[in-house]
Amino acid sequence: MSKMNAAMFYAPKDVRFTQIEIPSPGPGELLVKIGAALTCGTDIKTYERGHPTIIKKVPSTFGHEFSGQVVALGEGVTQFKEGDRVCTCNAVPCGECYYCKIGHRNLCEDLLILNGAYAEYIVIPERMVRFNVYKIPDHMTYQEAAVSEPLGTAVHCIRHAGIRQGDTVAVLGSGPLGLMLCRLVYLQGARVILSGEITEERQRVASEFGVSDFINILEVIEAQDRVQLVKELSYGGRGVDVAIEAAGFPAAWEEAIQMIRKAGTVVFHGGCKAGTTITVDTHTMHYSENKLIGVYHQDPDDYRRSFQLLASRLVDGRKFVTDTVPLNQLISAFERVRRIEGIKFAIDPSVM
Ligand SMILES: [Zn+2]
Ligand SMILES: [Zn+2]
Repeated sequence: MSKMNAAMFYAPKDVRFTQIEIPSPGPGELLVKIGAALTCGTDIKTYERGHPTIIKKVPSTFGHEFSGQVVALGEGVTQFKEGDRVCTCNAVPCGECYYCKIGHRNLCEDLLILNGAYAEYIVIPERMVRFNVYKIPDHMTYQEAAVSEPLGTAVHCIRHAGIRQGDTVAVLGSGPLGLMLCRLVYLQGARVILSGEITEERQRVASEFGVSDFINILEVIEAQDRVQLVKELSYGGRGVDVAIEAAGFPAAWEEAIQMIRKAGTVVFHGGCKAGTTITVDTHTMHYSENKLIGVYHQDPDDYRRSFQLLASRLVDGRKFVTDTVPLNQLISAFERVRRIEGIKFAIDPSVM
């Protein structure tokens, strides 16, 4: 068997670019040649500190947002053929555990997670092939198809947000997910205020996505001032109907709570560090009937909707990709994202 290029995680801040055996597909599986693999905040965190569930043993391949072309079929695969361009969500539920049975497949107790997109080839497991693999239409690029995984979590978030036409919604956080959420909020018929680190590129993309008002936290430093600005932009100054937190900091969670009107909703999409807590004013919570909702991950139906939003270009996935770089520039791409120099980078693993 011949070899392929791969980024291998050995330890935090120790990723090596090397050649490993090309895996072969087992029954029901697909061997896919990666067309595009995207940078994601989760992979950057994994690079910096490791990850308890993604990296189980070292050295390990990593990277999880990808699309590519089927080059070999495992035994028994009939719904795909060699040459098909495909994408998949990198996690799939079992369909049989307690949470799957009660309709919370995103909380599956036996979630199967796939990693290894920062490599030339990847094997898609049988369960994923059954539930979560989609053929990419001709007009759609590999890069935009690879956006389907993160966008699926935004679809899941919006499903719980209860947004109605004419609402005013604040999105906190201007990273890739914040921008995806802005677009989905706009598609619900709501007015969108984006509060985050607003660079020229992000402002342009967010404006194209329908964001009408910006609060740049690099300029409006104090949280109280940002809350005030959001209130002024809301109907009657009462606060927004819905606030969505997509920054992943406890302080931003608390800030979001202060931005809503009475009986408003806060949805927490950004995961904070384990062990962190927030303080909630019980008096306000009680007398204002606030709704505070946590959301996590996605289920196969969210993923299907995400794929369709991208295929129809109701969400234009091309806008999230700042640049394409060869595999051995993965770490510098991570660093550029950290410096807010881009939104996402596409990694081309065939070049090293
Ligand atoms: Zn991701
Ligand atoms: Zn399950």
